Amino acid sequence: MERTVDIVLSPVEAADPVLVRQAAEEEAGIPPGSANTSRILKRSIDARSRSPRIRLRVLVATEVLPEDPITPPSLRNVRDAPVVLIVGAGPAGLFCALRVIERGLRPIVLERGKDVRSRRRDLATINKEHIVDPDSNYCFGEGGAGTYSDGKLYTRSHKRGDVEGVLRTLVAFGASPDILVDAHPHIGTNKLPGIIIAMREAIEHAGGEVRFNSRVTDLLIEQQRMRGVELADGSIMRSDAVVLATGHGARDIYRLLHAKGIRIERKDFAIGVRVEHPQAIIDHAQYHCAVRDPLLPPASYSLVQQVEGLGVYSFCMCPGGIIAPCATSPEEVVTNGWSPSKRNNPFANSGIVVSLTPGPSPEERGGMHHAPFDPLDPLAGMNYQREVEHAAWMAGGQRQSAPAQRLDDFIMGRMSMDLPDCSYLPGIVPYRLDELLPVEIASRLREGFIAFGQKMRGYRTNEAVVVAVESRTSSPVRIPRDRDTLQHVEVEGLYPCGEGAGYAGGIVSAAMDGERVAAAIRITAS
Ligand SMILES: Cc1cc2nc3c(=O)[nH]c(=O)nc-3n(C[C@H](O)[C@H](O)[C@H](O)COP(=O)(O)OP(=O)(O)OC[C@H]3O[C@@H](n4cnc5c(N)ncnc54)[C@H](O)[C@@H]3O)c2cc1C
Repeated sequence: MERTVDIVLSPVEAADPVLVRQAAEEEAGIPPGSANTSRILKRSIDARSRSPRIRLRVLVATEVLPEDPITPPSLRNVRDAPVVLIVGAGPAGLFCALRVIERGLRPIVLERGKDVRSRRRDLATINKEHIVDPDSNYCFGEGGAGTYSDGKLYTRSHKRGDVEGVLRTLVAFGASPDILVDAHPHIGTNKLPGIIIAMREAIEHAGGEVRFNSRVTDLLIEQQRMRGVELADGSIMRSDAVVLATGHGARDIYRLLHAKGIRIERKDFAIGVRVEHPQAIIDHAQYHCAVRDPLLPPASYSLVQQVEGLGVYSFCMCPGGIIAPCATSPEEVVTNGWSPSKRNNPFANSGIVVSLTPGPSPEERGGMHHAPFDPLDPLAGMNYQREVEHAAWMAGGQRQSAPAQRLDDFIMGRMSMDLPDCSYLPGIVPYRLDELLPVEIASRLREGFIAFGQKMRGYRTNEAVVVAVESRTSSPVRIPRDRDTLQHVEVEGLYPCGEGAGYAGGIVSAAMDGERVAAAIRITAS
């Protein structure tokens, strides 16, 4: 006898497998002690009541049901197979490479940055010396922006099978199986590098290649057909199938496409700030308690408010996290957030951004520091983004220090006389962010924060600090592709892929897009 039941338990009960089994037996109508299988299938926190509860979906059976083993994909040797060039070793590129091997083709992944370990030194240099290597930083290098990301695996995609497939692959390469059951799965920055290395080793073991320090600088196209790529050292790599999975930080790629007359389009995106609260304030607001139960994870939040026709919303919220310096070029300051698997830092940070959909009207563009925002120019959004990031760099003292203001001071339009402790390692400097940000962004952020303070008790406080800027929420450019073949609409054999092409927003969706593109690749005889 086998049944799936939903039960609701206290955090203490939910942490005890015996109590979980007993509750599941009772719910399933099975005699106490008769279940030989009790397996949690889904787990979520319900914090609506005064004492948070854990909701579990449990498979309970009187028989011993075998576990479905999760093993890395069995990859055949493709050393002598036709080559597919994959530009970019982020989640899109790596998942694409694995699926390319499953299809019996040989992936060569070309990555401008360094391997995970060497890359770590460059991150330390950003924090300590404020020097950004344009090929090796928080976004570029083995594993792409995914390696030192937060590793939240939530996606809005409704293709459950595909989502689960990506999660199972991550588990096979070393992620905790908890990600298969948690409603908001999270890996953590400390665990991601090991998973990425295991994926690369599997690709190499099957006869594929991952080449570091290999920046692609040109696309070789003959009569609207892809023939290969040129690298920064002048070498040429040939293939009729090139997957472009370069992420949304690779502005040189967008400029290259535009300069070569290859069609790209402007895409909606969002810009704002990171806000950081003491984690205890967020725990108090969400769990209605003075001190968080240690069995509960640090609390998170998700907030959204319409302000003057545009959405203001929280983005990539990191409980127990760190604000990271994520610039990809010198002379720009960009923030994002991550957290370790235990989420045990004392701060909670989140992007709070204004969705530029459908984009500010020309009359609204009264801000001080941004470029003209021409809706017909495919690079206008990207240039606008860059201008704001450069303004933040100037305001931060031409270093990676980020301009910042206490939250209530920002709302009230006052300079902060001092700043609270902040997790952002290069440091923060006091600045009037309403004078730094374009007016259409600053005014909506202000209204958004006021609304969030009304929605969440304790949220509006001068103990929180607002740090500028959060500008890389999604790609400002789309590289259009054919719906069926997934090739560029004008260039045969060119496969735009992942977040930088505008078809993903996050690790899981980028990975799924990589797999989708791999399945679509056709190698034609030249
Ligand atoms: C700090 C931080 C935290 C994040 N937290 C989360 C999170 O919790 N959850 C989530 O889902 N997402 C998160 N993200 C976003 C996530 O990392 C991205 O959505 C995802 O990595 C996009 O995957 P991608 O493969 O499309 O592109 P990317 O990961 O950006 O990879 C692109 C790769 O292409 C390479 N490349 C670029 N140009 C060239 C070139 N010319 N030649 C060769 N190689 C090139 C780059 O070096 C890079 O390695 C976070 C990002 C950051 C920076």
